Amino acid sequence: MAPDAATATTPTTPTITSTAIATVLIIIPVAVTLRYMWLCWMRPFRPCPACHRHGWKTTAVLRRPKTCRRCHGRGWRLRLGRRLYNHLRRLHYAAHRAGGQVTRLKGRPR
Ligand SMILES: [Zn+2]
Repeated sequence: MAPDAATATTPTTPTITSTAIATVLIIIPVAVTLRYMWLCWMRPFRPCPACHRHGWKTTAVLRRPKTCRRCHGRGWRLRLGRRLYNHLRRLHYAAHRAGGQVTRLKGRPR
């Protein structure tokens, strides 16, 4: 029995549907965001990009060592996502505290 012309399948190239594109466009940012959240939770500090974890830099003119102003000589900086999380957590605690006092919301933590 010969195959019918209407039901015969011809080899076609795989087509990329708009659903597949939309799925990829949603999955990739979600995966990147989840990985960054995991990174901020597990490793809240990153090496200081200004001094490359040395904690000091040399001056441009005399080449004398000087404490890094960005990391205050620690060589590590808090990630932006972790800083944001800490700020939002402090806001939440301050809002739910009995006195409603907000502390350490301004300025760099010492
Ligand atoms: Zn530094």
